[in-house]
Amino acid sequence: MSREELKKEFKTFEDLPLTPITSVPSSANQTGGWKTFRPVLDKEKCIKCHICWKFCPDVSIKAKEDEFPEFDYDHCKGCGICAYECPKDAIEMILEEESQ
Ligand code: SF4
Ligand code: SF4
Repeated sequence: MSREELKKEFKTFEDLPLTPITSVPSSANQTGGWKTFRPVLDKEKCIKCHICWKFCPDVSIKAKEDEFPEFDYDHCKGCGICAYECPKDAIEMILEEESQ
């Protein structure tokens, strides 16, 4: 079905078939609960460049000038993009159960 046909058939969200969507924003829902890995910062290696913050697709890294980045584990999905993009290998992805 084309985008135009979809627009004609589903004029409001009430026209949509039942589907598992959420009715609350992720700010009210701790969506980080399903991650398998979590990022852990090595402050000895980190140069506070905040490239990790720029690449996080989930806005789960807090960055303030001249401070180390902080991970928001309540919303981080554990995708590992921050660790992949970090130029200093300062982020290690560890199994969630090993972080307890
Ligand atoms: S990208 Fe790496 S070096 Fe840069 S702030 Fe993030 S953790 Fe630190
Ligand atoms: S693991 Fe993914 S979601 Fe979590 S802080 Fe890194 S880039 Fe963001």
